[in-house]
Amino acid sequence: MYENKISIIGTGYVGLVAGVCLADFGNNIINVDIDEEKIKKLQNKKMPLYERGLKEIFDKNIEEKRISFTTKIEKAIGDSQVIFIAVGTPSNGDGSADLNAVKKVAKTIGNIINEYKVIVNKSTVPVGTAKKVKNIIQDQLEKREKNISFDVVSNPEFLREGKAIYDFTHPDRIVIGSNSKKAKKIMQNVYRALYLNNVPFVFTSPQTAELIKYASNAFLATKISFINEMSILCDKVDGNVQTIAKTMGMDGRIGDKFLHAGPGYGGSCFPKDTKAIVKTAGDYGLNLRVIQAGIEANKKQKMYMVEKIENYYETLEGKKLGILGLSFKPETDDMRESASLTILPELIKKGVKIMAYDPEAIKVAKCYFKNFDKDIIYCDNEYEVMKNADGLVLLTEWNQFRRLDLNKVKELLKQPIFFDFRNVYKKDEIKEYGLNYIGVGIGNS
Ligand code: NAD
Repeated sequence: MYENKISIIGTGYVGLVAGVCLADFGNNIINVDIDEEKIKKLQNKKMPLYERGLKEIFDKNIEEKRISFTTKIEKAIGDSQVIFIAVGTPSNGDGSADLNAVKKVAKTIGNIINEYKVIVNKSTVPVGTAKKVKNIIQDQLEKREKNISFDVVSNPEFLREGKAIYDFTHPDRIVIGSNSKKAKKIMQNVYRALYLNNVPFVFTSPQTAELIKYASNAFLATKISFINEMSILCDKVDGNVQTIAKTMGMDGRIGDKFLHAGPGYGGSCFPKDTKAIVKTAGDYGLNLRVIQAGIEANKKQKMYMVEKIENYYETLEGKKLGILGLSFKPETDDMRESASLTILPELIKKGVKIMAYDPEAIKVAKCYFKNFDKDIIYCDNEYEVMKNADGLVLLTEWNQFRRLDLNKVKELLKQPIFFDFRNVYKKDEIKEYGLNYIGVGIGNS
């Protein structure tokens, strides 16, 4: 067991998963947040968010007293040798990452520390942020007339929501950006369980570590946009994007991951991180054309889904559509930048009434769609959305939507049309049930 405590400031999707998993590795964790309601829930052993498998490890580590939750940031910092910053870094209007929360935490750290600490940037932050955090802490120490040594490490996180527990406990690599031998050793100790398991560790400078995260996310987002654009071409020429993606993926140089055509990428990372790296490059007079093109293709893809629906009907006015899935991907209730946030309001604008179901995201969706109260009815299960509907639209590929009773689907729908925007089903199979089928880039024949 690691004797020194670790504070994790910011208990969201990343901070909570990191806290629970690092506790499971044997560390002593204090999770901090400014959101009192969230911390109260956690203290009462309730989950403030949904992530598959999180609750089980959470319960185990609470039981074994390796993790606690507080809003008292000063005490947590004072008690810890390692302080992770895992607060949100959303987009500013100009695409840059909003670093206000990170800076605020850095200032508090500078006001509190009285002995050597390692401060770890776990949030996704633009290149140069480790230096900024260091300067903020240093400024505060100077104001306090204290001469205390500390190190700032960049340790970006690569987990995927929905698979966060697996990703955190079986990472492809751990990136440690630091120029300090002492800090590297302490970080190795934090991740001792993974180090012993031969997980590759990449030790590099803070600025390279910061860029690794953005380069990785921008590359994956661009890969999705690439195959999405292929899907539009396939629709025009009666090609099949799934076969193309599968065959491309057989080439080891390409790989089959992130090559699934769909309604456009969303979530809390790809949209904001692609914009942020383009903005950073712009600040240095550079134009990252490839990433910019990926961003534009993604916007277009979401609207292309609306077009597909619109083209099927003579008019959308007065139509009722059943929507399966609202979260940006399965196994999470995260709605940030979800395709549904673009597609549903567009459909509503064109006169559509929505019947929607999502296994986990309805509560969150109600907040996002609060201006559409009269246009969206939230249903209790996947079949309720279809009752008397003019069509069914699959937006998020939750497992339970992969095995629909297609006889029942046909029976419940008023008009037999299934828009499968995740290409979950085979067109021929759907047609056998007397349903019309429109996927993404799978041709017309
Ligand atoms: P989130 O919004 O779910 O959580 C952030 C938390 O920080 C919130 O609970 C908020 O209340 C808290 N917070 C804000 N200011 C605070 C402060 N001053 N003190 C204490 N707590 C504060 O965000 P997230 O999805 O966990 O993302 C966190 C960071 O990790 C972001 O930079 C994100 O880009 C990055 N990241 C996210 C993912 C992901 O899949 N969500 C994956 C990798 C990296």
